[in-house]
Amino acid sequence: MGTDLALIQAAYVVAALLFITSLAGLSKHESARDGNVLGMVGMAIALVATWWLALRGALWGNVVAIVVAMAIGAAIGIWLARRVGMTQMPELIAMLHSFVGAAAVLVGLNTFVDGGRGSDGVHLVEIFLGVFIGAVTFTGSIVAFLKLSARMSSKPLMLPNRHWLNLAALVASTALLVWFVAAASLVPLLLMLVIALAFGWHLVASIGGGDMPVVVSMLNSYSGWAAAAAGFMLGNNLLIVTGALVGSSGAYLSYIMCTAMNRSFVSVIAGGFGSDGTVSNVDVDYGEYRETSASEVAELLTHAGSVVITPGYGMAVAQAQYPVADLTAKLRERGIDVRFGIHPVAGRLPGHMNVLLAEAKVPYDIVLEMDEINDDLAGVDVVLVIGANDTVNPAANDDPTSPIAGMPVIEVWKAGEVIVFKRSMNAGYAGVQNPLFFRDNTAMLFGDAKERVEDIIKAL
Ligand code: NDP
Repeated sequence: MGTDLALIQAAYVVAALLFITSLAGLSKHESARDGNVLGMVGMAIALVATWWLALRGALWGNVVAIVVAMAIGAAIGIWLARRVGMTQMPELIAMLHSFVGAAAVLVGLNTFVDGGRGSDGVHLVEIFLGVFIGAVTFTGSIVAFLKLSARMSSKPLMLPNRHWLNLAALVASTALLVWFVAAASLVPLLLMLVIALAFGWHLVASIGGGDMPVVVSMLNSYSGWAAAAAGFMLGNNLLIVTGALVGSSGAYLSYIMCTAMNRSFVSVIAGGFGSDGTVSNVDVDYGEYRETSASEVAELLTHAGSVVITPGYGMAVAQAQYPVADLTAKLRERGIDVRFGIHPVAGRLPGHMNVLLAEAKVPYDIVLEMDEINDDLAGVDVVLVIGANDTVNPAANDDPTSPIAGMPVIEVWKAGEVIVFKRSMNAGYAGVQNPLFFRDNTAMLFGDAKERVEDIIKAL
C-alpha cells in the first residue's frame, strides 16, 4: 500500500471514530451540540480523504467533472439550507433520504454495466440488494415528502389485499435475484427496479398520518442501509461503516418510536399498520367549548403554584419558543414551578420540541419526557397546551376506533385547568377531533401561539 493510501485509510478510521462519538453525543441534550460538531469534523475529513482517493491517478477530465459536481451539489445545498423554514425540515429530510436512495440505485446500475457482469455471485447479490433498498428508499421518501408537505393526503391508501401485494413484490424480487445471479443479465435487475419503486411507494402510501413518525425514522434507517450497500458496490469501507451506523441508529430510533406509539415494529416494516383508513370521530358532537383571553390566562397563572407546558407542532409553526422561554423565566422568577412535558412524536421530527426549546435556552432540567410528567399531572394547577393536538388527545385512550387508538398521550386533562393555544377548532395531523377541547376544565385561547403568549407576558 502506498503512503498516501495508508493515510487515506487512517483518515477513514478517524472519521468513523468521530461518527461514533458524534452519535454518542447526540443521545443527550447537554452533549448534542458537541456531537454535531464531531460529526461535521468527521464528515469534512471523510470528504477530503475520499476526494484525494478519487484523484489518485485520475484523468484531468475526471478531476474537473468531480469538482464541477461538488460545486453544483454544494451550491444547491447552501441555497436550500438558507431557504428552508424550520417547519419544512421534516420534508427536507425526507427529500434528502430520497437522494440517498437514488444514489444507491445509480451506483448499482453503473457498477453492473461498468464491468459488473463478470463479477462473482456475492458481488451480484450486493448490486441487486443495493438497487432494491435504494429504490424502496427513493419512492418511499418521495411519498413521505409529499405527505409531510401536505401535497398528498395523510390518509392511508387502502388498496385491496395490500399485504398480499407487498408479499407478492418480495417473492417476485427474490425470484428475480436468483435469475440475476444465474444469468448476470440486466433484465431481472431492471424488472426488480420497477417492482421495488412501486413497493416503496405503496409501503409509505398505506401508512396513516398519525403513524408517520415511525415511517420517517424507518426511511432514515433505509437510507443508511442504501448507503452501506453503495459502499459495498464501490468497495469503500467508510461508506459501509457510515451507512451501517445510520441504518442501525435509525432502526433503533424506529423501535423507540414504535414503543412510544404502542405499535408493533414488524407491522411497521410490513406497511399499512395501525389503521383501517376510517376517520372516526369528526362528526361526533362533544358539546360546547369554553373560550378564554390572554388576560384571564395571565390571572390564572399568577395564582398557580405549578404549571406544565406541553408544546406541539403549532409551537414550531408559530415560532413561539422564544416567548414561551420568556414566559417560563417570568413565572419562575415569581416562584412558580414550571416544567415541560414532551411527547416523543410531538411536532414533525423526532426531538423536534427539544431542539426548539434548546434553541430558546429553556433549561434542560425542566424539560421532561411524557413518562416522567404523566404521573405528576394530577397535582399540577395549570397546563398550557401550546400548539399540541394529537399528542394530548384522550381519544387515544378512550376510543378504540380512533386512528391514534393505543398511542400513549400526555394526560393533560388530569390537571386543574388546561389552556389550549390554537387558531381554530381544526383537527391535528391525524385528522381526528380532540375531545379534550370540550372538557369542563379546558379553555381555548384562540390565535397564533406566539402572539397569544406575548399577550400573556404583557398582561402579567
Ligand atoms: P398536531 O400536528 O396534532 O397539531 C398541531 C396543532 O397546532 C394543530 O391542531 C393546529 O391547530 C395548531 N397550530 C398550527 N399552527 C399554529 C399556530 N401558528 N398557533 C397556534 N396553534 C397552531 O400536533 P402534535 O405535535 O400534538 O402531534 C404531532 C402529530 O404529527 C402526531 O400525529 C404525529 O404522529 C405526527 N407526526 C410526527 C412526526 C415526528 O417525528 N414527531 C413525524 C410525522 C408526523 P389550528 O390549525 O387550529 O391552529
